[in-house]
Amino acid sequence: MVRLVALGAGESGVGTAILGLKKGFEVFVSDKGLIKEKYKKVLIHFGIDWEEGKHTEAKILNADIVMKSPGIPEKVALVQTLIAKEIPVISEIEFATRYTDATVVGITGSNGKTTTTMLTNYIFKSADLNVAMAGNIGDSYAKMVAENNFDFYVLEISSFQLDGIKTFKPHIAIITNITPDHLDRYNYKFENYIASKFLITKNQTKDDYLIYDADDEVLVSWLKEHPVKSQLLPFSIQRKMEEGAYLENNKIVITINNNTIHMTSDSLALEGKHNLKNTMAASLAARLVKIRKETIRESITSFQGAPHRLEKVLKIHHVQYINDSKATNVNATFFALDSMSTPTVWIVGGVDKGNDYRELMPLVREKVKAIVCLGEDNTKIKEFFGNVVDLVVETYAMSEAVKVAYKIAERGDTVLLSPACASFDLFENYEDRGNQFKEAIKNL
Ligand code: ADP
Repeated sequence: MVRLVALGAGESGVGTAILGLKKGFEVFVSDKGLIKEKYKKVLIHFGIDWEEGKHTEAKILNADIVMKSPGIPEKVALVQTLIAKEIPVISEIEFATRYTDATVVGITGSNGKTTTTMLTNYIFKSADLNVAMAGNIGDSYAKMVAENNFDFYVLEISSFQLDGIKTFKPHIAIITNITPDHLDRYNYKFENYIASKFLITKNQTKDDYLIYDADDEVLVSWLKEHPVKSQLLPFSIQRKMEEGAYLENNKIVITINNNTIHMTSDSLALEGKHNLKNTMAASLAARLVKIRKETIRESITSFQGAPHRLEKVLKIHHVQYINDSKATNVNATFFALDSMSTPTVWIVGGVDKGNDYRELMPLVREKVKAIVCLGEDNTKIKEFFGNVVDLVVETYAMSEAVKVAYKIAERGDTVLLSPACASFDLFENYEDRGNQFKEAIKNL
């Protein structure tokens, strides 16, 4: 029997184990930490051999193939040993892709993956296609492939998943944008991170497509230096595109193989320039699978966005509260501030991943009337914006931050939580931060 070992017993590891079992592998799952109860139950239910709190080398180094979960860095000793012994180490999407003929839309990028994945899935569903979304969102791809038979998968894919591919080939790849993130996993080299994102095109041929943001200089200059085999479908909100998508007189113009459609951008469900880009990317994918213009138009006006991403929470005394807790880097916050059309009380801060706040300066000058810092250490934010914004207040709990923002905000203002930082100093994760924000607003 071929021995499959899954390192890490989260969504990817357990999904891989289920699929491996179904395909006749001898499966072993090993997690150095403690396994969540819900995953343990699944492993026990399927009678899969597992361990937690350790990696027993004798049960791992005899593997024929190893699936490494995306959270485990490649540099850890065990993974290095496996590589030295020439045991193939792959990611879960690589494993899953070997067992399905479905048409795949693979979506990666620094920001906008989840939104674009959900919107693409929504449009495909509205067109009655037999589609599911998976990957970093919801169920793992492997589990989906094990338990279903979909014609289309829309996959949200992180660079860590891409690092472990060998044959994975999406028919349609989308790179939403590339800004510095997770550099700690890439030897602090931006080019390594970019190369990793572009692995999504590695196995594509001239019959496949790459949809990307033509306004993103990082993407465009990388493509010039490193051409891909797939057909390019750029989108832009600044310039006309012969092929791809652009904006003209408030209309989204989409051209693929000399076939052009126009759709109004007036009544889009998602606000902000970044969401216009996400909408263009999803619409291009939809056109590639021949979905009718009417269906796309109807979908992009009725789609409800994902929580914690520029999510409108409540209006209290004519002040709009917006939850953008998912903005864990400067670029995401840039687009949030950019889409503000009223004076803004900005709640910002958390764990700084080496942020460069300079690009936010013009937007902060123009739109932000007060800053409410919410983090264990707010020194950098105070130093940076102290001279630009009249009022900077430090807080150390969400309830306090929301109360302060409530006091400062006046009729017609917006209170925006868009932290530009990770959340784990004061919160479990970004969802916890966003949920506490919403709770605090309800308690006002
Ligand atoms: P991801 O899954 O890549 O983290 P999300 O869709 O969850 O992306 O959005 C993450 C954050 O980035 C949110 O704050 C959102 O408002 C912002 N965002 C969404 N799309 C884009 C985009 N195309 N460019 C920049 N920021 C974006």
